[in-house]
Amino acid sequence: MNKKYLYINTIGCQMNVYDSEQMIRCLKPLGYEISQSIEAADLIIVNTCAIREKAEHKAYSFLGRLPGLKRKNPDLIICVGGCVAQQEGRMILGRIPYVDLVFGTHALNRLSEHIRNISLKRCRIADVEMTREIMEFSSSGVPAACDEVSKFVTIMRGCDNYCTYCVVPHVRGPEISRRPESVIEEIRELVGSGVQEVTLLGQNVNSYGIKEGLCSFPELLKLVNEIEGLFRIRFTTSHPKDLSEDLIAAFAGLEKLCSHIHLPVQSGSNSVLKRMNRKYTRELYLEKIDRLRKISPDIAITSDVIVGFPGETEDDFKATLDLVKEVEFDSLFTFGYSDRKNAPAARFPDKIPDNVKNERLRELLELQEYYTLKKNSALVGSTELILVEGFSKKQDFQGEQEGFTCVHWTGRTSTNKIVNFVDENSLSGDSTLIGKRIEVKIEKAFSHSLLGKPVDSKPMPVGVIGEESYAA
Ligand code: SF4
Repeated sequence: MNKKYLYINTIGCQMNVYDSEQMIRCLKPLGYEISQSIEAADLIIVNTCAIREKAEHKAYSFLGRLPGLKRKNPDLIICVGGCVAQQEGRMILGRIPYVDLVFGTHALNRLSEHIRNISLKRCRIADVEMTREIMEFSSSGVPAACDEVSKFVTIMRGCDNYCTYCVVPHVRGPEISRRPESVIEEIRELVGSGVQEVTLLGQNVNSYGIKEGLCSFPELLKLVNEIEGLFRIRFTTSHPKDLSEDLIAAFAGLEKLCSHIHLPVQSGSNSVLKRMNRKYTRELYLEKIDRLRKISPDIAITSDVIVGFPGETEDDFKATLDLVKEVEFDSLFTFGYSDRKNAPAARFPDKIPDNVKNERLRELLELQEYYTLKKNSALVGSTELILVEGFSKKQDFQGEQEGFTCVHWTGRTSTNKIVNFVDENSLSGDSTLIGKRIEVKIEKAFSHSLLGKPVDSKPMPVGVIGEESYAA
């Protein structure tokens, strides 16, 4: 079989990252190898995200770069997958004549069949059919590509919550959970190929298995916790309304479960939460935070906030700022509200002007920066166990200039904080520390990362490391 090259541009959340990996697996039997070069590609896939306007624009602007490549290579196959594909369907084929395949979020397991047909017949296909079954991918005969120590594992798809600003239930369909046996089998396989940490993914993992009468999410966590060789378990995302006592208790009872929860609050104002259809109040949210911290005092808590939801008053926004002050999140993802097709809030009155939205975003970010730095600074002087993931994005070559060779590594704490460190014993380009569990003494804190030194390492020359080098 001739070797062919596949280039994937993945936009959006971790679930899309996971789906892109499944696409690579599906296409391997057809002879496709992943390529980092778009020019070399025989097949280009853009895996899209519809959750925000910006992500959708990103997909279209990427597609806008492709007609030249198609002219140079008329056999090139161009595909659009993911949430925008699901939302727009056949319209994409009408709008963009050089796109060969549009495949929605439920068409992943038909991808290889479509590619085969397009190669043979040079036809154009749109497949946005939704099914009520969860897609399972057989990995037999196709080894997982595991040069990474940490991987995502999707445990469920879709969402039943219908928050009024969100397109996910419309583009991913209703919630469907995978069977626990198949999740466990996949994780065992990953562990067998060197993976040490998994992040279980779902739009709302807290409701895993309920509809299908499978085990509950805390029970699934227990099963994953028993997998030999696995070091750490993470999960995302949790809906606050469904955060159960059993799940809170898991943070104390399961030794592999990391001490971090991402619990999106979206707003601190009850009237905004109501219009968002979030089905919890600020009081209930704060109560759950309290329970989490009682059970697990060092747990890191991160969240999402949408600023400028239709009708958000100054008082509503102030309630959000007050909640941020009260909780003191470890970090926060902040977003300016944007209308999404099919989402009810797009039809809500009292849209917030962009200048007001931007000013509120700025104020919120500034406040959160303070708490992030405060939390990170509190770790200076402590020793943290980190799982080394690879080389730090930014390398400081001052060491070489001063007559020794060093490499800057990066890993995460159980609380999901990025720790960069220098190990003078490892040579540049040597990957021997990847996958190692190392104790690092934290010496400096920045807004997005920490800097430290392995506890058994010899002291580094003073002045080697500058803050500028470590903005992760
Ligand atoms: S819980 Fe709400 S925000 Fe999250 S995916 Fe479902 S509808 Fe969207």
